[in-house]
Amino acid sequence: MIEALGEDGWLHHERESWVRICGTWVPYPFQYNIHRLPAEERTRCFEGLQKLGAARSDEQSSPHSPPFKNFEQLIRASFGEGISEIFMLPYNEKVWAYPPAELATGWTEDRVAMPDLARVAEAMRTNEDHISWGPNNQFRFPKTGGTGAVRSAVAERLPAEKIQYGRRVTAIDPQTRTVTAEDGTQATYESLITSIPLDVLCTLVGSGELNEAAARGLRYSSVNLIGVGLLGKPGPDVDKKCWMYFPEANAPFYRVTVFSHYSPNNVPDIGKYWSLMAEVSESPHKPVDEARVAEDTVEGMLATGLIENREQVNHTYTLRIERGYPTPSLRRDEAIEFILPRLEEFDIYSRGRFGAWKYEVSNQDHSMMQGVEVVNRLVHGSPELTLWFPNIVNRMHPIYGKAWL
Ligand SMILES: Cc1cc2nc3c(=O)[nH]c(=O)nc-3n(C[C@H](O)[C@H](O)[C@H](O)COP(=O)(O)OP(=O)(O)OC[C@H]3O[C@@H](n4cnc5c(N)ncnc54)[C@H](O)[C@@H]3O)c2cc1C
Repeated sequence: MIEALGEDGWLHHERESWVRICGTWVPYPFQYNIHRLPAEERTRCFEGLQKLGAARSDEQSSPHSPPFKNFEQLIRASFGEGISEIFMLPYNEKVWAYPPAELATGWTEDRVAMPDLARVAEAMRTNEDHISWGPNNQFRFPKTGGTGAVRSAVAERLPAEKIQYGRRVTAIDPQTRTVTAEDGTQATYESLITSIPLDVLCTLVGSGELNEAAARGLRYSSVNLIGVGLLGKPGPDVDKKCWMYFPEANAPFYRVTVFSHYSPNNVPDIGKYWSLMAEVSESPHKPVDEARVAEDTVEGMLATGLIENREQVNHTYTLRIERGYPTPSLRRDEAIEFILPRLEEFDIYSRGRFGAWKYEVSNQDHSMMQGVEVVNRLVHGSPELTLWFPNIVNRMHPIYGKAWL
């Protein structure tokens, strides 16, 4: 990263994330900060946890031991009635755009913070926040050019004649090891590393059994990104926040980022403007009216107190990403474990966010490392860690105190 953009190319931030709920702000992770809720909801959440604790000590079971059939079962058994109904179930349905009962559980180990009843009780007593940001929870963002600046800078360091943009692949012949592009040009390969979405790749390869496996097991959701350019300055409630989660029905978005906070260069003149970026999920289960989504977003920003009035809105920008999240659906692993090895028989290595379809290892760092590791495997024979061992790469590093990736 430093080589790509230089030491001075970055701005460093504390990872402040919050949940907007019941008319108030609760720091993330929600389950450790329920003392911030209004009295009725606070009691409901705590009683749910207590009941769970009592049931658990009866059963002498750990939260990870029961074989949950789906994510909803895991949520209810881990968070109790109150937290499940008020936050976990509505938030997860909103972000995934599928009912939690249709999601698997294997991906969650490092992604969902399981509550410790004693810690929650202590926070209720002292009213002390348990926040996930602190000295080890910093992130950096490019000073100029947004996230894409990293990729552009890395690409500039590579031999230009080896890079071709904007050429869609329309067929792959695994027998002759030939890739055909839409302009009819062809290229042959020894090993093909691809980040084309796995379901699309199966069609390009033209194998019936792979297509059937993909259709049976792979689900995804789309994301509508709504950028809102605003006049003036953020209010005190929003000012220092990085991103916020919205589980309730009073806003269409599940998450909003204060984008002008990441870098002042994300707006034309930080003295006059600021900006928010909202994400609205979409799927066959949760359709979105594209014509209304920007207006609904502004309405939601007013309803949740992110902005004070409509006059602040300078402009809106909407971008729909067809493949936004690879859904950890119930039959996902079965599909991946069937398709990837078969493609490898033809020296096709499908990696990346939708190439390998594994949400838990599909952020930028994960996706890049999947590429690095498959090259190392092909050249040096070293094993791939990120794709097949998410729980290792997402675990806290014993020395550096942060996730391996
Ligand atoms: C809303 C949203 C928010 C996100 N936020 C973060 C974040 O905060 N932090 C983070 O680390 N990650 C974030 N991510 C994830 C990040 O975008 C991915 O990790 C990253 O883009 C994955 O890289 P990739 O190369 O695997 O796949 P992609 O970036 O999806 O690249 C796949 C490429 O294949 C191309 N392609 C598809 N079909 C064909 C074809 N037939 N022929 C040729 N090319 C084709 C596509 O055009 C695309 O360029 C976010 C993603 C979304 C959608």
